[in-house]
Amino acid sequence: MTADFRHFYQKSWAERTAIVADYSALTPAETARFKTYYLPQHSEIIENYLTDYPLPMGLAVNFVIDDQPRIIPMVTEEPSVIAAASNGAKIVKRAGGFHTTVTRREMIGQIVLEQLTEPAKTAALIEQHAADLLVVADDAHPSLKRRGGGAKQLRVRQLGQGYLSVDLFVDVQAAMGANMLNTMLEAVAKSIGVLTKTNALMSILSNYATASLATATCELPVALLQAGRYSGALVAQKMAAASTVAQLDPYRAATHNKGIMNGIDAVAIATGNDWRALESGAHAYAARDGQYRGLSTWTTDGKTLTGQLTLPLPVGVVGGSIKINDVAQLNHKLLGQPTAPTLARIIAATGLAQNLAALRALVTTGIQQGHMHLQLKSLAMAAGATPAELPTILQQLEQAPHQDLTTTQQLIAALRQTKDEN
Ligand code: NDP
Repeated sequence: MTADFRHFYQKSWAERTAIVADYSALTPAETARFKTYYLPQHSEIIENYLTDYPLPMGLAVNFVIDDQPRIIPMVTEEPSVIAAASNGAKIVKRAGGFHTTVTRREMIGQIVLEQLTEPAKTAALIEQHAADLLVVADDAHPSLKRRGGGAKQLRVRQLGQGYLSVDLFVDVQAAMGANMLNTMLEAVAKSIGVLTKTNALMSILSNYATASLATATCELPVALLQAGRYSGALVAQKMAAASTVAQLDPYRAATHNKGIMNGIDAVAIATGNDWRALESGAHAYAARDGQYRGLSTWTTDGKTLTGQLTLPLPVGVVGGSIKINDVAQLNHKLLGQPTAPTLARIIAATGLAQNLAALRALVTTGIQQGHMHLQLKSLAMAAGATPAELPTILQQLEQAPHQDLTTTQQLIAALRQTKDEN
């Protein structure tokens, strides 16, 4: 416990791992794990870098989005997510695929002013100078305007209690834009300081990206939804009811949206996008009228089931870590090198496919049937089953009264004992 973490960030990778090994009493084998996933270039991305953390990446299939077939790389540690997305997409493919739209694609940043005695007057003054302030914003990151983007709009909102938010809307082109916008905001904040004789409390991008909305829709003949003994019309009606419950009840809505984000985050990670940014924006959007609600809706007229998902998807195809991450680069290629709006469309469709599969399972057989089969595999592996032992252990686990770690370990031990005896 005498390890010295002072100036840890200045140490070489070998020094850092040695300090950690000493501090945490790691065995040589444990310390060697740092090397297994070590990628030197990643020490340029985060601070105090030790190693990469492996997450499984798989491929969702069967997608047709705006008449174009797509394969979709997804990074997730949760079993059944990719199976569900592929399954949802397969149903929608039979009905012609997903249709998507993207509204204007602008990021919004805020300059917050405080302690204003006459906020309305200050707001009016800033609005009068909006055109000049947009020029200041563009001058702070001129390459954006050269690419056809740049500052588009200034909006002033009175927040109450003497606070004011000056919202800057910027067309960030192919990037997510957080850093570029923050640079522009700080320049505009300085000019506003001179203009209003007040110092801004803060200048920062907002993740509530209401000017970067993407929508995915699908229309399914109800016959496609038939599941076991449930008729398609009944499944459609139950899915519409499940959708209504997610509109009425935040407890249900949170889980409904978690299922959607299972798909959205997995593609965001696979493409090097900031999934925390998407998460915060999605949940803020889900509460936009004051109550937290499901992000998607499903309605039926008895013949057709119509699904719609709209949420902020401010994703980029350049910037951040995208160019530095080889696998993210590869995944952009698998996706056909989409533009940023096209990537947003693909991600929205993935979220809707995920939601379709989850709701259909929930209102029919329940999700456990399909989910548990895949979860059991994770359980068996966590208990130490080798790939050769997996089929037998899974078969035995399916019939076991308790599907837990202790039972699985006992089954593995029994299997190995039988083998030894043979
Ligand atoms: P970058 O800082 O990497 O900026 C984008 C880069 O892409 C610029 O260098 C730009 O070049 C370049 N570029 C090349 N081609 C294009 C093009 N066609 N359109 C636009 N830019 C282009 O990333 P972002 O500004 O996109 O910010 C994203 C990062 O910010 C993410 O890593 C995110 O995690 C992080 N972040 C997120 C925050 C949040 O969500 N609240 C807050 C702060 C950071 P040039 O310089 O020549 O314009």
